[in-house]
Amino acid sequence: MYDDSNIFARILRGEIPCKKVYEDDHTLAFEDINPKAPVHTLIIPKGNYVSVTDFTEKASDAEIAALMRAVRKVAELKGVDAGGYRLIANTGTDGGQEVPHFHFHILGGRPLGGRIV
Ligand code: AMP
Repeated sequence: MYDDSNIFARILRGEIPCKKVYEDDHTLAFEDINPKAPVHTLIIPKGNYVSVTDFTEKASDAEIAALMRAVRKVAELKGVDAGGYRLIANTGTDGGQEVPHFHFHILGGRPLGGRIV
């Protein structure tokens, strides 16, 4: 069940600000408030999806395509497309997901090493 009081839903409704990086009809990307790397941008669908599982079950092909293409666009806009980056989707309790609106983290701008956690 989607909880529309979550912080990303509030950003999408314009109730709280964000530092926007990219936007299209289906997708919004903005800077993480607590960056873990020189580049740390979040990419979210505008639709109400809790997780990657929920998103891939219910989203339209257009929404899924837009989100994946936004990853490439954000990497380019943030200048990490050539050097590389890490794409993360924390999912559920064991995945450490804190905000229950599906999002990708795109991290880069320095060598991130091989650690998973
Ligand atoms: P996760 O643990 O994958 O759910 O990640 C949630 C991310 O959202 C964390 O990296 C937070 O720093 C980030 N975050 C929380 N609130 C905000 C906000 N208001 N604006 C931007 N990023 C946020």
